[in-house]
Amino acid sequence: MKYKLDIPNHVDIDGYGDEVTYLLNLPYGFRFSDDVVHVRGYDTMAELRASVKIDVIPCDCPDCMRGLQK
Ligand SMILES: [Zn+2]
Repeated sequence: MKYKLDIPNHVDIDGYGDEVTYLLNLPYGFRFSDDVVHVRGYDTMAELRASVKIDVIPCDCPDCMRGLQK
């Protein structure tokens, strides 16, 4: 299972003007590879897109398992 970026459903833009943060909320079943975290903020969409390709891996933590069972 590989994560596919879904901007309308998984990306929130926080802040306004030049001070925006792009928040990537991973769906159940995925996390970032370097830590058991499921949300991360980026300064630009380019950074977010690049990160999705290398940093997102499948996750089977208790929260994800519970979420996937719904
Ligand atoms: Zn998880």
